Amino acid sequence: MSEAVTVAGLGGWLRTFTELVTENRDNLTDLDAAIGDGDHGSNMDRGMRAVLAALDEAKPAAGSALFSKAGMTVISTVGGASGPLFGTLFLRMGTALGDSTEISLSQLASALRAGLDGVAARGKAEAGDKTMLDALAPAVTALETAAAAGTAKDEALRLALAAAEGGRDATIPMLARKGRASYLGERSVGHQDPGATTVALLMAAAVQAPL
Ligand code: ADP
Ligand code: MG
Repeated sequence: MSEAVTVAGLGGWLRTFTELVTENRDNLTDLDAAIGDGDHGSNMDRGMRAVLAALDEAKPAAGSALFSKAGMTVISTVGGASGPLFGTLFLRMGTALGDSTEISLSQLASALRAGLDGVAARGKAEAGDKTMLDALAPAVTALETAAAAGTAKDEALRLALAAAEGGRDATIPMLARKGRASYLGERSVGHQDPGATTVALLMAAAVQAPL
């Protein structure tokens, strides 16, 4: 397998992510019902199905166009917190990916870093607030570290997935400080964050696709 990521590979990543979101829709909704309003699974499922439909029509030829289209579609089809946040993640990734058709692991890590920074700015959240950032930040750091060390792509993506899953699990004992879950105060403790769970699915999709 080539070490570079192709635009077709990125498209496959979004497709596999959509499949995982659809498979996990009820679980994501149950997690959100416990500390939010029970719409995260249906929000993400609706948004990502719309992304696939838009991509099938537009057939973008570069990573920038692919992720920009995905971001705009998520923002326009998903309300609440997750639409603008996952939309921003994809939009910023698109800008960072630019027009290259062969994307190196370090370029992919940079794109995810740009997406993470965008989500943090948009949601004004930081590590430890019990949000999607708590899975995304360790995944991005793991990918950057692996890319800098010259780790093979498959292994690097597996490390990023493991970091995302660790970050997701670490949200369980956290007290929510952002989003709807923060309205619960202490009662948010003991529950896994739905958005962090979705980020772990995004990284699982990168491993499974495979990128
Ligand atoms: P809503 O809360 O509007 O119903 P969703 O249920 O679809 O939206 O998404 C909830 C998820 O969004 C949370 O689990 C959390 O990960 C993420 N989230 C909420 N607010 C923020 C924020 N300010 N910054 C980062 N992520 C956030
Ligand atoms: Mg919700």
